[in-house]
Amino acid sequence: MTLQQLLDQGTEQLRSAGVPDAGLDARYLLLDTFGLGLASFLADRGRTVDGLPGGAEKAQAYEALIARRAGRIPLQQLLGVQEFMGLEFFVNEHVLIPRQDTETLVELVLVERKQRDLDVLDVCTGSGCIAVSLARLGGYRSVTALDVSAEALKVAEKNAAALLGEYDGDFRLVQSDMFAGLETKETEAQPGQEPGKAEILPEQAAGKAAASRDLTRPSLTPQFDILVSNPPYIPSQVIEGLEPEVRDHEPRLALDGSPDGLKFYRILASEGKRFLRPGGAVYFEIGWDQAQAVSALLEREGFTQIRTVKDMAGMDRVVGAVLGAAADNGHQAPGRSRETVRTIQARPMEQGI
Ligand code: GLN
Repeated sequence: MTLQQLLDQGTEQLRSAGVPDAGLDARYLLLDTFGLGLASFLADRGRTVDGLPGGAEKAQAYEALIARRAGRIPLQQLLGVQEFMGLEFFVNEHVLIPRQDTETLVELVLVERKQRDLDVLDVCTGSGCIAVSLARLGGYRSVTALDVSAEALKVAEKNAAALLGEYDGDFRLVQSDMFAGLETKETEAQPGQEPGKAEILPEQAAGKAAASRDLTRPSLTPQFDILVSNPPYIPSQVIEGLEPEVRDHEPRLALDGSPDGLKFYRILASEGKRFLRPGGAVYFEIGWDQAQAVSALLEREGFTQIRTVKDMAGMDRVVGAVLGAAADNGHQAPGRSRETVRTIQARPMEQGI
């Protein structure tokens, strides 16, 4: 059998399993298994598989992947990668696969917030695609990324380690059910305390740092200038109607936004503002029909300059807002030279969602 015949056979199997883009997916899997670029595949596709080094085993591995894809496992979980903002993110079944829609959010932040001396908080980070892209491409002073899932944080940690590149700010990962793992504490400022190097606090390491009260270690960044989130936002009953790839193979935890889809926006709007400096900004990804509801939640919590931005498909995709300086968010204006600063520290996880 030639490579082309093997490809045709795989394509046919995927097509009969109802996989959209069967030909494309079969080709991606073939190129990946045989370690071929498109050009060398086109040159070699008439060659028999058995004549290639390790050809028989590779053909078997390919057929196994085709069978899994026919079972509607997402292509990205089989390949283990998804490109996002020009970076190649590792993914597995514990994280939502980064969507192109979400680039709308990252691009908006990068365009609107060009200063570097900003502290960013990403809630529900999943694969870390938003947090890592903002750190790498925005060069912000610090990026702190939260997730409730220890398995997701392992993925985010791997992506941070591989993709942060020359980023020289503080990058932290914290296991936390929304904001539950962050608390504000009055602590004495440590004169001369250096900001930490890019640091990853997997799972409960952040909790340990808080428990030890060791302020010579970098503590979590006090307050934030930007709060971003792509929370679970699909109404529970809508999930059943989604493609099997999403419904059966992506984590429910990353998708299910409660019966009305808005549970996490309520928490983001009401609790998130406690961690934002006055004038701080929020950017939330939303479902195409949630702009009005999410804007109303933000307005009720004292946010201003509320606006909706559309994705490339022309659907409402991001809501942005600013925390009005007049709003009472329980904090005084920040001042790094003040003797007493508010420090947000992590405490150990209590309970998952
Ligand atoms: N936009 C994603 C989807 O359609 C869902 C993302 C989310 O719930 N955060 O599958």
